[in-house]
Amino acid sequence: MSKKWRLTERTRTLLTLELAIVLPAAALMAFSIYNLKHIQRDKSIEAAIQRDFGHVLKIAETKSWREANDLLTPVRKEFPSPDDGSQIKTKLETLLRQHPEYAYAVLYDKNKNLLLSRTQPGRDRDPAFCALAGNAIRVIQGWLPLEAPGMAASVRRMAEKDEPPVGFYGWWNLQASPHVYNSLAYFVPRDVAKDRVALAVVAFDEEYLRKTFLPAMMQEVLTSKSSVLMTDANPPVMMIHPSKDSAPWVASANWDGGKAEAERTFEYVFPELTLAIKYQGTTVADIGAKFLRFHYTVLAALCLMMVGGIWLTYRNVSREMNLARLKSDFVANVSHELRTPLALIRLYAETLELGRLTAKEKYQEYFRIIREESERLTALINNILDFSRIEAGRKEYEFKETNLADLVRSTLDSYRFQIEQNGFAFEENISNDVPPVSVDREAIARSLLNLVNNALKYSKDQKYIGVSLYRANSRVNLEVQDHGIGIAANEQEKIFEKFYRCGDPLVHNIKGSGLGLSLVRHIARAHGGDVLVESTPEKGSKFTIALPLDPALRTAEAAA
Ligand code: ADP
Repeated sequence: MSKKWRLTERTRTLLTLELAIVLPAAALMAFSIYNLKHIQRDKSIEAAIQRDFGHVLKIAETKSWREANDLLTPVRKEFPSPDDGSQIKTKLETLLRQHPEYAYAVLYDKNKNLLLSRTQPGRDRDPAFCALAGNAIRVIQGWLPLEAPGMAASVRRMAEKDEPPVGFYGWWNLQASPHVYNSLAYFVPRDVAKDRVALAVVAFDEEYLRKTFLPAMMQEVLTSKSSVLMTDANPPVMMIHPSKDSAPWVASANWDGGKAEAERTFEYVFPELTLAIKYQGTTVADIGAKFLRFHYTVLAALCLMMVGGIWLTYRNVSREMNLARLKSDFVANVSHELRTPLALIRLYAETLELGRLTAKEKYQEYFRIIREESERLTALINNILDFSRIEAGRKEYEFKETNLADLVRSTLDSYRFQIEQNGFAFEENISNDVPPVSVDREAIARSLLNLVNNALKYSKDQKYIGVSLYRANSRVNLEVQDHGIGIAANEQEKIFEKFYRCGDPLVHNIKGSGLGLSLVRHIARAHGGDVLVESTPEKGSKFTIALPLDPALRTAEAAA
């Protein structure tokens, strides 16, 4: 009944403890897994990166527009007016010479029916350049008189809105190989009245755009400290391709090919160009998968640590609870053990005091009982004192060269009578070739008494006790053998733990504190030896204290 109660109490405490740790931890894990699943399903990582890419592309376009306008600001000032008459051509030439980033310039004035153009004088000797520029100018001269009123009006609207009054236009010659990009900027020349249709057109030099302007712009955007992408381990890379053809036309220095993750077709400046961005050496899908893999691995590791923690707590708590139970048993056992001999001593002493005994043998018997019981008391108290010293780490041994055969014999002498009185067959086998060993005499005597006492206590009908002392190679063995109740195999290691008493109901009817064997083991180990048990339930047990002959071994192990 009481055991059952204890079990439920123990289970309850363990359960509460485990739940207190497991529940919050498991909830946290579940929440994290739910979150990760969410991220996986919604492709949140990928979406966030795409958003960042989109943002960077927008910055790149704005930057290109701003820089193109900066380039155009001096040109707008220096561009000849349609009223400059015969100087127009020379002025155009000077302008182009000072700004080699332009391929050609065209001036149109509707009123004066003026349509003048000039190619970059610096490139006059480059026939390929001249051919391309010539073609483009012819094309422009074809449509400019038709388009100029609309273009001039849109530029004027920009000026009204306080925006830079420049329009951009661009087209691809995809038949040419490599493809040729034509990019124009147009504005109304200075000092031209509002209602007059006049337009200045400059063409960006293709080579300048391709080799200088756009690569510099990409480099600046990609390495900008404020870029949202710069924190990543994989550097972002960019390229520009014709909107109608996906092959790269200009690429950033570290562009490594592959499919772009995000694209943006220029709207305000450089029409027909598409800007593309991706990560070098990896894809957004890969980054997403890596993120999830990493977090799942961390979660799995945390799970393992949690299980390990739970297991450790469980083990420690149950060990502590076992110990607490053993301690409370110990107090009950010890009180009982103290009370019984004291009661007997008092009873017999009172009887003797009355002086009514006539037979001399009775006197002898009563004195013997009083002596034996006080011996038991002394042994028990010694055990408890030794134990408390050991627990406090204050137990000290006094090693002295000792003739073990003499020590064993004299220890047994005071017990022999009691053993035989209890109906035990007692066999002593003490070899005389055991060399002197350095031991603590009292401790060894106490170990032997503990073993003999146990043999007495835990024997039923087969009453036999055998004590042997002999040399075995570099050791001396002190054996105590009985034909008693024996010890189950699974308890043979535990009996040396403090407070441990076997589960056999027989044992619980026999007085004991569970300290004896733990002391024997401590003493044997302090001498550099150990205590071993061989036992078969119902057949008997043999305890052997094995001590080394070499004292060097003793000091090493005792210190440990
Ligand atoms: P105690 O005898 O005071 O209970 P011990 O530490 O001496 O404590 O022994 C621990 C347990 O080992 C005993 O409770 C008993 O169950 C078992 N035991 C010890 N010696 C023997 C033996 N000779 N035969 C059978 N069981 C034994």
